[in-house]
Amino acid sequence: MSKFWSKVVHELTPYVPGEQPKLANLVKLNTNENPYGPSPKVFAALEAEVGDSLRLYPDPTSERLVQAVAQFYDVPATHVFVGNGSDEVLAHTFQALLKHDAPILFPDITYSFYPVYCGLYGIDYQTVALGEDFEINIADYQRPNGGIIFPNPNAPTGRGLPLAEIERLLNANTESVVVIDEAYVDFGAESAVGLVAQYPNLLVTHTLSKARSLAGLRVGYAIGQPHLIEALIRVKDSFNSYPLDRFAISGAVAAIEDKAYFEETCRKVMATREALIADLQDLDFVVLPSAANFIFARHGTRSGAELAASLRERSIIVRHFSKPARISDFLRITIGTDMQSQALVNALKEILTP
Ligand code: PMP
Repeated sequence: MSKFWSKVVHELTPYVPGEQPKLANLVKLNTNENPYGPSPKVFAALEAEVGDSLRLYPDPTSERLVQAVAQFYDVPATHVFVGNGSDEVLAHTFQALLKHDAPILFPDITYSFYPVYCGLYGIDYQTVALGEDFEINIADYQRPNGGIIFPNPNAPTGRGLPLAEIERLLNANTESVVVIDEAYVDFGAESAVGLVAQYPNLLVTHTLSKARSLAGLRVGYAIGQPHLIEALIRVKDSFNSYPLDRFAISGAVAAIEDKAYFEETCRKVMATREALIADLQDLDFVVLPSAANFIFARHGTRSGAELAASLRERSIIVRHFSKPARISDFLRITIGTDMQSQALVNALKEILTP
């Protein structure tokens, strides 16, 4: 291959998604899916879509879903943008709102898709080191005429940032676009959606893949003031992105409307999380405080790679990142059911007992 072609291809560094194993009967705690199914009302809504209407193209503006999101958060529909998973919403966000003269800022340990988007869309970025306890220090984020993005809670650490800190960030960066990726916010962190009306520089992104257990349906959304939403719509239309399909729209509306089911599942996940943290601490793990549906933990003496491999031999899959070095001894463990937690703890006891 000529130098030209290898340069063109090699400059595109792809995102490496978490493994989706083909084997059945695994305890799958590696990609932060929800162990409980979606609301039963979702199944009824999907069944209702099976019929002659599949002949017809879906509504290109997903109006029903936009309205459902707006109603859930009590914001105007002009504040809502929807897409095929929050990864697509984020892709449009990077294209529309994060391309500036100054490099954008995000933490050095965070969602690994951000640098990939920057590579794809030719966006300069600088990373900001997390603090000693893996916390985000707002004072380190000052970027006039640029952009800032991070998840709250952060991934893969699970650490949440109080709303007052987000507000401090917004006030310190009034001439920057601040994107808060709230993929995991419903498991105990504070959402910034309530700040949108007050801050024209804030965009909040969300997914239905986690708290609403619909990773397979691919639905995400963003909430921000109409000028930001308008920018996202322009990029989406320019790229001729696919609208959401009929199943995605109907299933997502049903999931969002079933607030009681959503709250109950989040409560269960959080209770299992706290019990698992206590069990792991008893086994000599250091566990970061988590406001997400996963925990980030390292053992006192055993290496992360070794533990991940030993768990896999016992059909339990967790996520291990070999880079950067600072997190290479950590495991990111998705919160499963109580039974899955017990299986994990039993396997670890076996592995750790000499
Ligand atoms: N943001 C963060 C921080 C994530 O961890 C993920 C899931 N990997 C996403 C966004 C994307 O989620 P989805 O595309 O399933 O909506």
